[in-house]
Parts: sequence; structure tokens; C-alpha cells
Amino acid sequence: MTRIDLHMHSTASDGVLSPTEVVRLAKERGLTTIALTDHDTTAGWEEAMAVGRELGVEVLGGFEINSETNLGHIDFLVYGADAGHAVLQDFLLTIRDARVGRAKGMVNKLAELGLPIKWERVLYFAGDAKSIARPHVARALVEAGYVASTQEAFDKYLNDQGSAYVHRLEIKPQEVIDTVHQAGGVIVLSSPHHSGTTHLTAQLAALGLDGIEVYYFDHTDKIKAELLALAEQHRLLVTGGSDFHGDKTHSELGSVDVPLEVLPKLKERIAQRQAK
Ligand SMILES: [Zn+2]
Repeated sequence: MTRIDLHMHSTASDGVLSPTEVVRLAKERGLTTIALTDHDTTAGWEEAMAVGRELGVEVLGGFEINSETNLGHIDFLVYGADAGHAVLQDFLLTIRDARVGRAKGMVNKLAELGLPIKWERVLYFAGDAKSIARPHVARALVEAGYVASTQEAFDKYLNDQGSAYVHRLEIKPQEVIDTVHQAGGVIVLSSPHHSGTTHLTAQLAALGLDGIEVYYFDHTDKIKAELLALAEQHRLLVTGGSDFHGDKTHSELGSVDVPLEVLPKLKERIAQRQAK
């Protein structure tokens, strides 16, 4: 049986498993095609693709950009971009640098709240990650005994309403979309219902958005039907995945049913973008 999962994270960003371990697990779960979509980095691609070739799992290169924009907070997924594209890599580097400043800001706020954690521990939990993220701060909070789980760390301190939350770098959606297209990539609105960005679909489609992520672990049948209608209305591609991080914060690898017809359409669009 063919099964696909187009949204997951490894230790190249805020996941728990290395790219190698993610691909091995994908093989174990019977997945035939996966996309590694770490935050703001293509660093895990080479390793994942090499293991994929060895094990017979097709690995697509992707990444996720969580951006603060003039339209509010938007999460994008990108597929098939050229990892060697200088403008794209500069863009990702700027975002990653901003992430360091942001994580430090959260550590400072936590200290003010009487929950001091050492920056070194955040770096320790980031490990090989090319981009520092909130789960790394959350794991340091668990280690220090301030919270029982990373989920509690997010709920109390690190989510958008959390008392230690720090805003992200502000980027214009048009800049994200254009940069991705310049690098031959396809850009998709990540988990629109889950992230509260469904209402932006029409506006982003007008800016050149390629697709929306319809199949996601907490999207119900009703939500999926609404998103499919929206995709059809704006002639957008449809994608889906588990958003697996290797911990309890999202869902299990391969746990989301993603229809197979999604894949050839995505690949066709990638080929079109790369030909430009
Ligand atoms: Zn994700």
C-alpha cells in the first residue's frame, strides 16, 4: 500500500528524531513518500534523502516558515525549492538569526517571571538544530521542573497568549511567496484551520500562493470539506501531513490520511516552478 506524509520535523529544527531516524520510522510505518519540513532550514535534506534512497522511501525536500506578517501570523510550507539558491538561503538565515534573538527574549521574560533557565540548556536541547525554537525552551522548562510537560510550558508561557511569548520577525507574505518562487519552490498555507489563517486564503491566493494543507491531524471531516471547497474556488493545490515532531505536541508520523492524488499534482507544480 502506498502512503504519504508531507509535513514533519527532525532535529534539524525542533523535532526529537534525527533525519535518519525520521526516515527509518517512515519506512517502519509503511510510508512510501515523505517530505521533511523543518523550520527555516534545508539542513536535514541531504541526510534524509540519502537514507531514503537506501530504504526505498521517497523524500521530498521541504521547509516550514512561521512568519509574523502585516496580515497576522502565517505558517507556510514549502516544497521542492532549490536548496542551493543563494537568495533563499540568505532569507532563511535572516529568519534563523531572528529566532535566536526571540528565544533569548523568552528566556529573559521567564527569568522576570521567576523561572530562570540557562541559555546553555536551551542550546543543549537545540542540539544540532539549525533553527532554535520554542520546543527547545519548553524542554529546558521541563528539565528545570517548572512544568510537567512541554505542552504545559506552551499553555502557560510560550504560546501566543503565554506570559513569556515574544513576537517573531515581521515579514511580508509577498516577500515569502516571491522568494520561494524565485528558488523554484511551491508554497502552501500550513494547517490553515489549526493556525487560524483560513480567512487569508483568498488574499494569499491573489499573491501567488500555490496550495493549502487540508489534511492535518486536528482537521475534522467538516473542516476538510470546507478547505477543499476553498482550494477548488481559488484553484489551489491540496496537501497534508502529520506535523510529526517526535514528541507529544503534534501527532504521530503517518497518522493523517493523505489521499495519494495529492502527490502527482504537487510534483507537477514543483516541475513547473523549477522550469521557470
Ligand atoms: Zn510543522
